[in-house]
Amino acid sequence: MILFFQLLFLPNCEVPNPDRNLKMKFFSEIFEKIIMCIICRNEYDPETLTKLDCRYCPKLTSIPNTLVNLTSLNCSSCPNLTSIPDTLVNLTKLDCYNCPKITSIPKTLVNLTELYCVSCPKLTSIPDTLVNLTGLYCVSCPKLTSIPNTLVNLTVLNCRNCPKLTSIPETLVNLAKLFCWDCPKLTSIPDTLVNLTKLDCRNCPKLTSIPDTLVNLTKLDCRNCPKLTSIPDTLVNLTELECSGCPWINSSHNSDYEENVKKFKEDYDSLLSSTLYPFLTRKIVKFLIPIEI
Ligand SMILES: [Zn+2]
Repeated sequence: MILFFQLLFLPNCEVPNPDRNLKMKFFSEIFEKIIMCIICRNEYDPETLTKLDCRYCPKLTSIPNTLVNLTSLNCSSCPNLTSIPDTLVNLTKLDCYNCPKITSIPKTLVNLTELYCVSCPKLTSIPDTLVNLTGLYCVSCPKLTSIPNTLVNLTVLNCRNCPKLTSIPETLVNLAKLFCWDCPKLTSIPDTLVNLTKLDCRNCPKLTSIPDTLVNLTKLDCRNCPKLTSIPDTLVNLTELECSGCPWINSSHNSDYEENVKKFKEDYDSLLSSTLYPFLTRKIVKFLIPIEI
């Protein structure tokens, strides 16, 4: 990269032709070579390569299926990459963030423990064979309709901004962190997720309740959930709660402001006397701001 800029700003550098277009072509070719990955430059040994980072390569269209020893692959932001080979069976970590041409993740990648398939507009599903996954990050996948219920080892699931997602599988009982905000079709959080410590379900307009079984929650963000009417008083481990923009504390989603204020005061009174109150030390103020009690 440094070489490129040095060449670009050297006034008397030697180029094959002084013509401006040819000069730009020359620099563009150099730049392309600098940012090309080791696959495109053919500078790799398939026998020994275990970790491949080919992010931002503009040329890469495919990954060699001979790389069977790869354990980690980062092919984020490769605009022309169309697929991941199904022969990469030793992969434990795959990051294909922002790959607009990828349509699927091979079901043979059964050793994956971490999968980042964020902003993949053509991805329609996650294979149900990936049972060793502990972290799944499938943020902003507009065609994704479901999360497989076989992924029982997941401890972190980030499925934010998946507009077609309608539910979270109740089998994901090991989940500790769930980020499902901006999911307009999500109607519920399973009451089986008893190991959750962090839940971010902001901006879920169809969500009607938070399960009272989530007793290990320490952080809950449920801002702008207009159908939420209460927060269970069983969540005694909560230390951070963000709930502004919910109609029971704010009139913005409901024309009956007076009724909401009354209801909030009742809820607030009951909150003060509930077992929850001593634990809501850090962000309780967010309860109060919206209606200026
Ligand atoms: Zn490349």
